Amino acid sequence: MEEVKIYLSEAEMPRRWYNIVADMPNKPAPPRHPATGEPVPPEAFSAIFPMNIIEQEISAEREIAIPEEVLSFYRMYRPTPLIRAFRFEKALKTPAKIFYKYEGASPAGSHKLNSAIAQVYYNKQAGTKRITTETGAGQWGSALAMACNFFGLECVVYMVRVSYNQKPYRRIVMETFGAKVHASPSNNTKAGRDALAKDPNSNGSLGLAISEAVEDTVTSKDTKYSLGSVLNHVCLHQTVIGQEAKLQLAKAGLYPDVVVGCVGGGSNFSGLSFPFVRDKIYGKQVRAVACEPTSCPTLTRGLYKYDFGDSVGMTPLMLMYTLGHGFMPPGIHAGGLRYHGDAPLLSQLVNEKLLEAVAVDQLPVFQAAELFARSEGIIPAPESAHALAGAVVEADKARQEGKERVILIGLSGHGFLDLAAYDDYHQGKLKNFPLPQEEIDKALHELPPIPANK
Ligand SMILES: *Cc1c(COP(=O)(O)O)cnc(C)c1O
Repeated sequence: MEEVKIYLSEAEMPRRWYNIVADMPNKPAPPRHPATGEPVPPEAFSAIFPMNIIEQEISAEREIAIPEEVLSFYRMYRPTPLIRAFRFEKALKTPAKIFYKYEGASPAGSHKLNSAIAQVYYNKQAGTKRITTETGAGQWGSALAMACNFFGLECVVYMVRVSYNQKPYRRIVMETFGAKVHASPSNNTKAGRDALAKDPNSNGSLGLAISEAVEDTVTSKDTKYSLGSVLNHVCLHQTVIGQEAKLQLAKAGLYPDVVVGCVGGGSNFSGLSFPFVRDKIYGKQVRAVACEPTSCPTLTRGLYKYDFGDSVGMTPLMLMYTLGHGFMPPGIHAGGLRYHGDAPLLSQLVNEKLLEAVAVDQLPVFQAAELFARSEGIIPAPESAHALAGAVVEADKARQEGKERVILIGLSGHGFLDLAAYDDYHQGKLKNFPLPQEEIDKALHELPPIPANK
């Protein structure tokens, strides 16, 4: 009988984060100033991030040591298990061996704690007393609130209004860890007040919540801002996931044929896939597939262009796949993954064909999630379920071709606080919602006129 779970000991835990910049065939495109189009110097970010984090953001070092204090918090829940999904394989009648790396095992319920702990640690080192952030579904806010509490910093969260209303439990989690939570758009900031003046019933968006958190930071004392995805340092912190998974598979004498993950801003999938993409750059046969929703199809239907990271245009421009910073994802979409852009590192690797991207419809996502729950006993986060839907496609392919493939899934979190979405699914309220082309054309119309190859 083969093992179901592959554990690593604490002693086998990776002690360094892996920085893919060192191995990328082309250097990452620099952030640019919206008015001049010139590259923005790193110091320009010092109003919102401490210098030690900015240094990580621009680092080209292949390996960055994980500080001992961060490791000691990681040891509370890492290494996370790698689990062979025997019953899921059976239900899918596939010859593929399916493994999932379960980040829902963290006390925050998702991978987000991996970066929250690191970011709060570096902020504390730099003398920050108060951290602002935005949160969509609430996982990032919960992780940051938990990490701020560990290190004794104040935490202020702007939570996208649609989630604030639909998911009160996440707000309660954040408040339990001592964070202050505002529904965004809020009256606290000019960005929020302007949005409310335009539409008092605005659902909000991740981009707008970012604008509010950034504005709060630059107008407050001893305050810095923290982002739960997209940026290079966040992807870097998440590479503990892929490094562990690689070691765990190696213990079973295996290497994945395909690595599948879900993408919102791109951090969990970057963290899972980059250690494997490194091998691919040096000639190894491995595919990595990013799964996104058809209702917010940045990688598959967006443009690879310079755009703002937030929705009102306060940040420098980043080269990424984007649907335009004014893009508002349809409210009908049930689970996370609503950001208008994607991590620049991930975007560049997709653009250079080292990573693949697919879009999956909402109904097959929940079908895969329910099949997985009934097979493996874990109710996945709706975000993570996009990876499961992508894995089902790969498992079907293996069945049709009669090939015994190894599929590695990133199961980024559990769905215990997302049960309302499952209820909607059971009641037939969810629909597939491929984004109409007019919506994309409209949003892309506002892109700043800076070419990707400047
Ligand atoms: C936030 C979140 C995501 C999406 O964010 P990425 O940066 O793309 O990883 C996916 N899954 C879960 C469980 C999340 O909390």
